[in-house]
Amino acid sequence: MESLRLQFPALAQGNLIYLDNAATTQKPNEVIDAMSQFYLRDNANVHRGAHRLSARATRAFEGARYQLAQFINAPKTEEVIFTRGTTDAMNLLASSLGKLTLQTGDTVLIDQWAHHASIVPWQQAAITAGASIKAIPMDGSGRLDTDAYRQLLTLKPKVVILTGVSNALGCRTDLAQFIAAAKLVEAITVVDGAQMVGHHPVDVQAISCDFFAFSGHKMYGPTGIGVLWGNSAMLNAMPPYQFGGEMIETVSFEHSSFNLLPFKFEAGTPAIAEAIGLGAAAQWLQRQNRDEVAAHEQRLLNYAQQQLRQLDGVTLYSAFDDNVGSLAFNINGEHHQDVGVWLDQAGIAIRCGHHCCQPLMASLQLKGTCRVSVAAYNTMAEIDAFIAAIKDYLEFVNDDC
Ligand code: PMP
Repeated sequence: MESLRLQFPALAQGNLIYLDNAATTQKPNEVIDAMSQFYLRDNANVHRGAHRLSARATRAFEGARYQLAQFINAPKTEEVIFTRGTTDAMNLLASSLGKLTLQTGDTVLIDQWAHHASIVPWQQAAITAGASIKAIPMDGSGRLDTDAYRQLLTLKPKVVILTGVSNALGCRTDLAQFIAAAKLVEAITVVDGAQMVGHHPVDVQAISCDFFAFSGHKMYGPTGIGVLWGNSAMLNAMPPYQFGGEMIETVSFEHSSFNLLPFKFEAGTPAIAEAIGLGAAAQWLQRQNRDEVAAHEQRLLNYAQQQLRQLDGVTLYSAFDDNVGSLAFNINGEHHQDVGVWLDQAGIAIRCGHHCCQPLMASLQLKGTCRVSVAAYNTMAEIDAFIAAIKDYLEFVNDDC
């Protein structure tokens, strides 16, 4: 992984151990170059431009869409809708699919560890429709409770929203099992894949969901760009989300007709350089040995777990052998933010707080946690440094009393 790490210029600065990858990953040169090449050479607005610069920009932009379709094995390129990220994708979906499907008395299921980006847009759609949100709880082991889920499915929910991998805990949802069960009651399935795409190859056809959302910046791509993939039959049936240029076919003062997919859902000038950067990130990831990267990340995470488990005064949350990317812990009696600031003094970046999962924190009766999250470029030596800093902290607080 040493040569891979060298491709990330931000990691070359001294005194930085970056373990906040679930919040956002660092970017390889290839992504940075793709974006700067666009601005240096090809910068123009996309679609319908008569001039060659616009044609080049359009080719690069639509090329990125094609790369993203390949990246998630979408059956059709036009099913890849560019959004600003997972949050934007969920807002699009909740607003548009919500209008199409939700009626008074309907139920929407969302898992207990969902990010606010899933909960809040769907909550608003449910309020508008007079529908209700029900949470799929966790069981005593820290996984989603399959029995409770089966019980909730008897309510015949219209939509089931599943977080593929929890950003707060790092544990994964058994998507195959949960989606198959949802289909038996004809629920529409939505997967928040924000914490999946950077770690394992994603095949939306194999996952067999109806919609899949993710953010570019958590998979080595830029901020401000993400994807909503959806089955084209449903996307075609859904009303547009935002209105304006690009998304129309004809406009008069009395009436407008709307463009085909994907443009129907992409009003206004898109984030062109960002889409190109995301296409470059997808290509970069696909060129890596992804099995090797996943195994490396798993080793880092499992090693961190094993080390933390040995420390008196540390509580780990939902730490399984198959966690993806992240693990969460607290130092007993200490505020998570204090731990984060201590680690920062040692040059170690982690994230502390509720991780945009307040309902999850409430169910665990926690105000927040410390989260360590790894990416392909992290090393065992970095985990050792992190553990050493935690040991120092424990020593410091123990001395204190
Ligand atoms: N869902 C999950 C699981 C996430 O981790 C995040 C980002 N923390 C989001 C949704 C929201 O992503 P974004 O802020 O990029 O829209």
